[in-house]
Amino acid sequence: MTAHPPFFIIAIDGGAASGKSTSSKVLADRFNLLHVDTGSFYRGVTAEFLRLGVSAVDSPAVVAAAHALHFGTRLHRRSAVMELGGRVVPDAEIRSRVVNENVSHFAAIPAVRAALLAYQRGQTGVARTHHFRGVVMEGRDIGSVIFPDADFRFFLHADPVERARRREKEGGHDSIAERDRLDSTRKTAPLACPVGALSIDTTHLTPAQVVETLAAPIAAKFSRG
Ligand code: C5P
Repeated sequence: MTAHPPFFIIAIDGGAASGKSTSSKVLADRFNLLHVDTGSFYRGVTAEFLRLGVSAVDSPAVVAAAHALHFGTRLHRRSAVMELGGRVVPDAEIRSRVVNENVSHFAAIPAVRAALLAYQRGQTGVARTHHFRGVVMEGRDIGSVIFPDADFRFFLHADPVERARRREKEGGHDSIAERDRLDSTRKTAPLACPVGALSIDTTHLTPAQVVETLAAPIAAKFSRG
């Protein structure tokens, strides 16, 4: 029997523009991990619902549309890209203003979260099939709901003014304060630092410093095998 090499799960949660995406991508490259941006999944599903004319206030329609979703995964370098019915929702669409405005409303609905739960967990299978050493998954509830037993659970946060400045610099039109308010006050899987996670304030850190803060304990564990 062949022994399987160790497989690692790294969970990174935090509010919008807290530094999750930049650092997850660098960690994926450095440690050969599959990068999974679950925010892009919620955005893709939101774009699909909007395309179908489903409103977040019409619960039966949302439940029916959530049940009808057919997920697949494509790889783009080290990142998992969601397919819906075999189609990838273009990046410009999932980052559009209308998706920014609607995504947190759909993400608060339990049927939507339930539809994405198994799909998100299943990304470990994608990572194993493609011989990654593990996954680095970013979102709002990864360390609390999706992988509470992850090898590493990080929670990134930053001053709201600094986060708004970062998003503006990226050229995005995004009401991050409003999304954070909706995400942290919803009943199902609210945005919060999971118990036992390492909480990091990134307000005064450069992107490189955030990466090094996260990479140090990971590198130590990887070198032990
Ligand atoms: O990460 P990003 O800002 O792209 O996420 C978009 C939205 O998706 C969040 O504001 C949140 O409403 C939702 N989301 C979530 N749970 C996750 C990831 C994202 O509710 N794990």
